[in-house]
Amino acid sequence: MRVTVLTHTPDPEKTVAAAARLCYSNAGALEIMEGLTEEKVSSFIQKLMDMGHMSPVEHVSFTFAIEGVSRTLLAQLTRHRIASYSVQSLRYNNPFKEELKVEDESFESKINNENAAYLKGFLFGGGDVALLDKKVQISELTNNSLEDISAEYLNHYIRGIFDAAGEISKNFSLSFSEKFSPILSRTPFKFHQKGETLFVSEKDALDFSLYIYDGIDYARSYFLREKFTELCKVSPAFFTEIKNRIKDYIEARYYCVLPNEIAKNPDAILTYIDAIDTCKKAYLDMVKMGVDKEDARYILPMGTCTNLVVTMNVRSLYNFFKLRCCERAQSEIRELARMMLAEVKKIAPNLFKKAGAPCEATGYCPEGELSCGRYPVRN
Ligand SMILES: Cc1cc2nc3c(=O)[nH]c(=O)nc-3n(C[C@H](O)[C@H](O)[C@H](O)COP(=O)(O)OP(=O)(O)OC[C@H]3O[C@@H](n4cnc5c(N)ncnc54)[C@H](O)[C@@H]3O)c2cc1C
Repeated sequence: MRVTVLTHTPDPEKTVAAAARLCYSNAGALEIMEGLTEEKVSSFIQKLMDMGHMSPVEHVSFTFAIEGVSRTLLAQLTRHRIASYSVQSLRYNNPFKEELKVEDESFESKINNENAAYLKGFLFGGGDVALLDKKVQISELTNNSLEDISAEYLNHYIRGIFDAAGEISKNFSLSFSEKFSPILSRTPFKFHQKGETLFVSEKDALDFSLYIYDGIDYARSYFLREKFTELCKVSPAFFTEIKNRIKDYIEARYYCVLPNEIAKNPDAILTYIDAIDTCKKAYLDMVKMGVDKEDARYILPMGTCTNLVVTMNVRSLYNFFKLRCCERAQSEIRELARMMLAEVKKIAPNLFKKAGAPCEATGYCPEGELSCGRYPVRN
């Protein structure tokens, strides 16, 4: 998610102070504006906010460029009616237009070669193909050109061995039988030996794990889901790093947002990827059949990204921040609201001093039994 203030009313705080002062003065607004010092502006705004006299702040508005948010967020945001919106259209834009232009043969052949390398490693490690939840093309084993495992596919081959024969210990060390020594010695990692076991631990275990999952296509590549989720459980550092990579992968490959609650659970992340992959395939298939994009888009998920421009005046922003900075707001729009608030505070700190979740301004929570518990409840 990216938030930028594109433009705003010039001299926002001075404009509000002049409008507020005008209500109680014989002088005109221009004359008042010229006589305003920074101290006077700050003190007028303070008084205005304390009194709850909000109409003068309506003279100032902010225009934001918001990028990389979901259409779920869009549905919530546009419920705020006192605002103007311009939204990227999925009727005219095709998020997957490159895939429609050319059948990407080099991508297909790369995935096939990676999967073939994985399967070779998996079988070499003694793995049972029936354990793989992806549909395995046994032909890949015989029809591929990988006579030997090239450096390009080595990490996939080793991921296969790891899934079939690697062990993960609770203190995050990864071990293999010493019989895999010749192939493991081709990696950049130094394995230690204890009896008949080779192992890496701590930082090396983290780097090795990231290496074997490097560059994999989570919808198309072979790997054991249980092994992957176990690694995420045993090593929070691995989970954090791989999650960031997956977030970028989901945005680039599916033009989708990874929601925060799903991002907490590795199993849920993989389920999410499987589902958005199905939607993408259906969308592309229908567009190839000649279905117009404006109807094919019905199959795209609510997590699909969009970009928009929104303008709100300060009064509406106050209402928006009050409702959406609160812990009770859904996480993506809460993140957006907090980012927008941080941006406008840089430009007009006095004006937005009391903006945000009500608890932060008043010290108590108005949400009753739905309170998040950060502040005492007062109904
Ligand atoms: C935690 C949370 C949960 C929510 N859950 C749901 C839900 O389950 N279902 C759902 O439908 N919505 C839900 N909403 C959306 C919510 O009901 C509002 O539509 C949304 O927050 C916009 O607020 P607003 O109307 O105050 O904003 P705006 O539309 O920007 O209006 C600003 C203010 O202008 C005034 N105003 C605007 N239009 C009118 C009007 N026609 N008549 C009188 N006064 C008006 C009101 O004082 C209003 O507060 C939820 C919002 C939050 C924050």
